Amino acid sequence: GSRNLIVPSEVVRDCLVLTHHQIEAAGITCSPTFDSTATVSMSRTELQQVVVNLILNAVHAMPDGGSLTVATEDRDTCALIVVADTGTGIPPEVLPRIFDPFFTTKQAQGTGLGLSISQQIATQAGGRISVTSTPGKGSRFEVSLPIFKNA
Ligand code: ADP
Ligand code: MG
Repeated sequence: GSRNLIVPSEVVRDCLVLTHHQIEAAGITCSPTFDSTATVSMSRTELQQVVVNLILNAVHAMPDGGSLTVATEDRDTCALIVVADTGTGIPPEVLPRIFDPFFTTKQAQGTGLGLSISQQIATQAGGRISVTSTPGKGSRFEVSLPIFKNA
């Protein structure tokens, strides 16, 4: 995708507009916070793809409802996008494989490409995606992107 100067907080807002029906239909509550004012250099549609996939993964992990955390914040050289859920969590033996192409635990609708492509997109932008997860408690994904310019 073509690189542009984009504001992650704006892109995350767009992603919530695109996904709020799924979030609400699943009985999930979400109060997003947008503390990042940073600009980053990457494709807007690619960042949208990353964040929508993280949000939909979180929704799929909470079939009986729960709480979705969506937040942006700035850490000295990086803008962070946080997507966290109170869902199933990921077993420690599965965690190292979730970024592998075609790895999925979903019966029908899973391609297993979401996180693999997302990690590639983040890496191309000079950033990364990290995850922490506790089975039975939930998962937290963080996308960190190098700041091009602040505020
Ligand atoms: P897909 O969504 O098509 O399965 P992804 O690459 O997006 O592919 O995710 C790969 C796998 O990682 C999922 O099938 C699931 O097992 C696990 N996973 C990803 N996000 C979460 C999450 N928020 N909670 C629990 N498991 C997750
Ligand atoms: Mg996915």
